[in-house]
Amino acid sequence: MAGEHFFLELEPPEERLRRAPHVVIVGGGFAGIHACKALKDADVRITLIDKRNFNLFQPLLYQVSTGLVSRGDVATPLRELVGTQRNVQVLLGEVTTIQPEGKQIIFNGKACSYDHLVLATGSGSTFFGHEEWRTFAPPMKILEHAEEIRRRLLMAMEQAEQTPDPEAREFLQTVVIVGAGPSGCEMAGAVSELMRWAMKNAFKQLDPDKTRIVLVDPGERVLRAMPEMISASALQSLTDDGIEFLSKGRVQTMRPGEVIVGTPDGDVRIQAATVIWTAGVRASQLGKKLAAVTDCETDRGGRVIVEPDFSVPGHPDIRVAGDLCNYSHTSNGHPLPGMAAPAKQAGTFIGKDIAAIIADQQRPTFRYFDFGSMAVLDRSSAVADLRGLKFTGGIGWILWAFVHLVLIPGLENRISLSIKWIFALLTQQRAAMLLTGMPSQHMALDAADAHFPMQAGEGPSIASPDAALKAAMDYYSHQLSGIPQTQELIDTSDESAAAIR
Ligand SMILES: Cc1cc2nc3c(=O)[nH]c(=O)nc-3n(C[C@H](O)[C@H](O)[C@H](O)COP(=O)(O)OP(=O)(O)OC[C@H]3O[C@@H](n4cnc5c(N)ncnc54)[C@H](O)[C@@H]3O)c2cc1C
Repeated sequence: MAGEHFFLELEPPEERLRRAPHVVIVGGGFAGIHACKALKDADVRITLIDKRNFNLFQPLLYQVSTGLVSRGDVATPLRELVGTQRNVQVLLGEVTTIQPEGKQIIFNGKACSYDHLVLATGSGSTFFGHEEWRTFAPPMKILEHAEEIRRRLLMAMEQAEQTPDPEAREFLQTVVIVGAGPSGCEMAGAVSELMRWAMKNAFKQLDPDKTRIVLVDPGERVLRAMPEMISASALQSLTDDGIEFLSKGRVQTMRPGEVIVGTPDGDVRIQAATVIWTAGVRASQLGKKLAAVTDCETDRGGRVIVEPDFSVPGHPDIRVAGDLCNYSHTSNGHPLPGMAAPAKQAGTFIGKDIAAIIADQQRPTFRYFDFGSMAVLDRSSAVADLRGLKFTGGIGWILWAFVHLVLIPGLENRISLSIKWIFALLTQQRAAMLLTGMPSQHMALDAADAHFPMQAGEGPSIASPDAALKAAMDYYSHQLSGIPQTQELIDTSDESAAAIR
């Protein structure tokens, strides 16, 4: 089956392309797309393989979770993005095997040969050895996770609206967010706005002041990777939005309706109907697979340690970019951060480097340009540290909005997002507060390892509470009625808890 240059051999688009070297790019995220684009004018044939047929703009996933924008605003079909490029063929499939000796990869049970291979499969979430927490606390890595979070947030409010007991309503209005990095802070601000606005305007029984949002982090401050002044400003903004920050807190245990957080002052028990996980990231599994066949090193997060040209040591024809690589050939020796800009710059460099090699021209040198970092805290305020220049509040937000509109692919997305943001700014209304999808359908999936096609979930009616929420509510009512809550009760006797495993 594995023929040299498998796919384009079938229907070579042009005679000239038939003889051109074959570049296989795995992953149509920031790095993969920019590698494709940088090879636009090169005499190469590119096969771009991704297990999803769209590019996902992860930085705005939290806006999908909180109903500010919808899925189409943050995802762009790969065929639209690069499929029209003369020398690109887009294929839907999951790459499972890399065979460096034969210079081929395997996907969808087929082999595909390459002259140059670019691996850019990104990263997924990790629960630090507690995979069992995944069902209780959705991570935020793929589109379906964001929609699951939105589902849980909205469903908890729907249930609270029908609950006569004020204490139970408070429980349903409590959200715990684990991780106070940019994603956690952005999520906390957006959840606060969503719940307070919706409760004030669209629900009749809910008291916005009874909303409780707790941000938990092992560090002493929020946004630890940013300067202290930025952290302090962000914390002030979050506190003004009514968000509690539990610092030096590590999640010890999680079960439906309850999170136990270890702190230097002892364990803190938080009862919450909704828990969201933004704490851990690990590289795509393909990194480990590559290490197994090339003997290359990976770091603790599973990222492949690469050479200055992003190649794998001893394999100049294999490059690794974006969140999947550990690139430490920087001026300060620190690895490039797992962010969009480094991934984009790496992809562009790799594309240009391959083009130079093929054209027998002088090869470029990679120089990372660090724009800085930013985090949005609510619909009109953000913090930004741009090469030492620090911005907060409204100016921070304008910069944040500008940068994200530049980064997101597609004019249509830019226009649509601009309109929705301005609308939200003026009215506080949310355009996408839809309860859709089957409960917990995609909880076992993860960007790094999700298989394609996805398995259809078996679940109850769309209008019934998620199994996770139901389990949390059952747990809470056991607590109220004084029934002792043991691990055994959750693990073995509680039907709804069993349903979410
Ligand atoms: C919630 C969230 C918020 C973020 N916010 C910001 C932010 O504000 N600013 C910022 O700079 N960065 C942010 N990031 C980080 C940024 O999104 C990533 O660093 C960036 O997406 C990495 O790009 P990549 O190309 O390496 O991988 P990705 O963009 O993740 O793309 C990887 C692609 O590979 C595909 N794939 C995976 N495995 C396979 C396989 N085996 N076969 C085929 N295809 C496969 C996936 O479907 C995906 O399309 C955020 C990330 C998250 C999760």
